[in-house]
Amino acid sequence: MKKHNSGFVNIVGRPNVGKSTLMNSLVGVRMSIITNKPQTTRHRIIGIVSDEDSQIVFSDTPGIIKDPAYKMQKAMNSFVEGSFEDADIMLFLTDPLERYEEDDPIIDKLKKVKVPIFLVINKIDLIKPEKLIKLLQLWSKRLEFAEIFPISALKKKNTKELVKFIIRYLPEGPVYYPKDQLTDKSERFFASEIIREKILMRYKQEIPYSCEVLIETYKVDPKRPLIRIRADIIVSRKTQKSIIIGKDGTTIRSLGIDSRKEIEKFTGKQVHLELHVRVKEGWRNDDDMLKNFGYKQS
Ligand code: GDP
Ligand code: MG
Repeated sequence: MKKHNSGFVNIVGRPNVGKSTLMNSLVGVRMSIITNKPQTTRHRIIGIVSDEDSQIVFSDTPGIIKDPAYKMQKAMNSFVEGSFEDADIMLFLTDPLERYEEDDPIIDKLKKVKVPIFLVINKIDLIKPEKLIKLLQLWSKRLEFAEIFPISALKKKNTKELVKFIIRYLPEGPVYYPKDQLTDKSERFFASEIIREKILMRYKQEIPYSCEVLIETYKVDPKRPLIRIRADIIVSRKTQKSIIIGKDGTTIRSLGIDSRKEIEKFTGKQVHLELHVRVKEGWRNDDDMLKNFGYKQS
C-alpha cells in the first residue's frame, strides 16, 4: 500500500506577520479574517490541505499578546500556549521588520519544542535580496531550525515549496478529516468572523476591540438557497453602541450591507442579515460571556 503522511502544523508568531494570510493562501479560501490591525484572529482556526497521499492540518493562532490586560486576551494567549504542545511541525512566522530579544517568550518556548520547527520569513516582497541574506544568517545562529523558508504569503512566493517540505517532514498517519473538508469550523462561525472583520475595517481605535459578534439565529431556508441570519454586536459601553449605529443608523446599515455581501460570497447563497447592538458591560472580563463566545471550554 502507498504511504500516507499526515499531521498537525501549527502556525505561531506575533500579530500581523501574516499567519492568517499564509493559511488562507495554502487552503485556498479566506477562512481567517485578515486586516492590517493586529489581533484580528481571536480563536484557533484550522485549515486542511489534502491530496491523495497526504493531509496537513494547519492551525492559525492569534498572535501572542505581550501583556494581556483582559481575560479575553488571556484566553487568546492560552489558545497559543496549546499550539506549542500538540503539533507535529511548528511554523514560526516572522517578517523582515521584526526584532526579537534573546529572552523573548516566543523564542524561549520554541527552544523547548521537540518537533521540527520551520522558520518562515514572510513578506520578502518588501526587502532586497542582500537584506534577506543577512536576516537568514542572523536567524540561523539563534535557534536550531529544521528548515528556513523565505516566502511571501501575499504574492504566493515559495509557498508551494513550503507545503512540499511540510509533507516530507510529516509522519505516516491516518486521514484525520474527509479529504474534501477545508476546516473544522461551521459556516455560522465564519459569518461571525466576517461581520467582525467588517467592524474592524469600518470603525477606528478601540471600538473593534470592544466588540464581539454573536450569531443569534442562522437558518438555511429549505426551499431556496437563502440563509437568514440575526447577529448581535456586543459592546461594553453605551457610547460605543451609538458609534456603531451612527447618525440615523447609517453606519450600521453600511456595515450590514458589506457583511451580507461577503457572507453571500463565502457561502454561495443569498443572505438576509439583521444586525442588533447590545451593551454588556465588561464582557471581556466576564467568564460566562467568554464561554458563550467560545473563548473557554465549559
Ligand atoms: P496575522 O496577524 O499574523 O494573522 O497577520 P495577517 O495575515 O492578518 O496579515 C497582516 C498584514 O500583513 C495584512 O495586511 C496582510 O495583507 C499583510 N501581509 C501578509 N503577508 C504578506 C506578504 O507576504 N507581503 C506583504 N507585503 N504583506 C503581507
Ligand atoms: Mg491572524
